[in-house]
Amino acid sequence: MPDGERTYRRVLLKLSGEALMGEGDFGIDPAVMSRLAREIAALAADGYELALVIGGGNIFRGAGLAGGGMDRVTGDHMGMLATVINSLAMGDALRKAGVDARVLSSLDMDQVCEPYAVYRALEHLDRGRVVILSAGTGNPFFTTDSAASLRAIEIQADLLIKATKVDGVYSADPMKDDSAVFYSRLSYDKALADKLGVMDATALILCRDQDLPLRVMNINDEGALARLLKGNDIGTLVSSGEQA
Ligand code: UDP
Repeated sequence: MPDGERTYRRVLLKLSGEALMGEGDFGIDPAVMSRLAREIAALAADGYELALVIGGGNIFRGAGLAGGGMDRVTGDHMGMLATVINSLAMGDALRKAGVDARVLSSLDMDQVCEPYAVYRALEHLDRGRVVILSAGTGNPFFTTDSAASLRAIEIQADLLIKATKVDGVYSADPMKDDSAVFYSRLSYDKALADKLGVMDATALILCRDQDLPLRVMNINDEGALARLLKGNDIGTLVSSGEQA
């Protein structure tokens, strides 16, 4: 599974909550969920060790709730609970696709899922299970992008994949600006300096400081995930020293 000089075996895939919505504007589209689960199941069957972090933006985001007058910390707690809802749904879809999947949570809720601890996640991965790491970092004022970077580093993933609705990173929003330039390679520093909206700065800095390569790719492009892990140059690679 080469990509340049890297070999990927253990991968953390970050899906935004919006990736689960399909054409809707809230919640989960079951057809989209099953399609994603099938793609992930095929990769698990191929022997990749997979961890997932799923956002909650299809249900609640703390900043949005705070904008409507709610206390920010309460809003963030609601956002983190939204990620648990999405993760439970993904766990179910993966099990239906024949995968042994476990949901772990950074907030304790023993009746619903397992508490997150890195040793537990690693044990599941060693046994060929897909782990879904929910409730973000467990702390308000963070995002699931930061949770994805943090957990990817903790479990010593070879690659962090951020699945989005566009093909990778552009100089501007390609949906709004026809002159937007696509980057197939990017350094962490350029992504940070140019505020390219790859991930939030906390998440990117964690990746940079621990030299964790990051791929940004389009999850709506069916099969792209498998092609990427099989060594195809899909999306944008953000890594140290690679200039646009
Ligand atoms: N959140 C949080 N701490 C974390 C991760 C998430 O408080 O470590 C909350 C925050 O309110 C965030 C919401 O959960 O807006 C949903 O996560 P995110 O916005 O990252 O979801 P996505 O945009 O990926 O769907």
